[in-house]
Amino acid sequence: MRHVKLGLSGPLVSEVCFGSLAISPLQGRVTTAEGTGILRYAIEQGINWVDTAEIYNNYTQIAKAISGHSEVMVATKSYALTRAEMRTSLEKARRGLNRDVLDFFLLHEQESAFTLRGHQAAWDELLDAKAQGIVRYLGISTHAAAGVRAGALQPGLDVIHPILNYQGIGIIDGTLEDMLNAISFAAELGIGIYAMKVLGGGHLAHDPVQAFDFIRQVKGVQAMAVGMSSKAEVDFNLLLLAGQDVPPELSQVVHKRERKLYIADWCQGCGRCVEVCPQGALYLEGQAKVKAAECVLCGYCGRVCPHFCLKIV
Ligand code: SF4
Ligand code: SF4
Repeated sequence: MRHVKLGLSGPLVSEVCFGSLAISPLQGRVTTAEGTGILRYAIEQGINWVDTAEIYNNYTQIAKAISGHSEVMVATKSYALTRAEMRTSLEKARRGLNRDVLDFFLLHEQESAFTLRGHQAAWDELLDAKAQGIVRYLGISTHAAAGVRAGALQPGLDVIHPILNYQGIGIIDGTLEDMLNAISFAAELGIGIYAMKVLGGGHLAHDPVQAFDFIRQVKGVQAMAVGMSSKAEVDFNLLLLAGQDVPPELSQVVHKRERKLYIADWCQGCGRCVEVCPQGALYLEGQAKVKAAECVLCGYCGRVCPHFCLKIV
């Protein structure tokens, strides 16, 4: 497994960060215990960091998987707006992950300088936490090129976690080229960058080699978070990234797992899911409908449905 330095100020990390949304209750693809086993397996294969978020609701799952592995780092994020909310988020992460010191803490889904300004108080709390040694590295995650540019200029920021894949799927404010230009701008300032949704939320899973190769050749992107919900997927991805042949039977198992957003027929048409979808992939036509090509299977809509209608299957 390649190891890379994350920006000017970041640590040495494996090129692949384990994207834990795929094993979390938010996506519900596997049980909590199965997810713990898959993450532990990935760690044993050399992955030394995990990406999560407060809304994934899987701190305990991760704590179990990384127990005895103090070398494994965790990157988490929250939507906190105020200092008090951020203090609560930090404490929740420290307690849930069973770690006194958090490796990475990010503001979740920062889409522009305007969004970041709105979260300034939470950011100030993060700066204080870093000064006190509670967090080692600070950052943002974003689906927008403007978010990358704004993050790069944010005082005290170490890492950015932007959406990036060769088709530009999921970029909410422009083209792939806009995103690449923004990443290049951030990289020149020494910001560490690890990409998300490199397989376009599953839309590019038919050609993972092209997807991984694309990320690897983007100057300034050091690493990528890859969501994996089976040991077979871990093996498959790590073989591909090592440039080794994948046994046909392993390929078959992995490719059988095509996914989509399932909307149950008891949907009441309340529209809550439509409001929270960061991709604008949902709309109402009596009931909720999804534009499959625009859905990156993040599962964020599922957590707001009062009737449990939404699931990634
Ligand atoms: S429809 Fe749901 S799963 Fe798809 S991008 Fe929107 S929030 Fe994510
Ligand atoms: S939140 Fe649930 S009930 Fe409301 S529109 Fe969406 S799927 Fe339907």
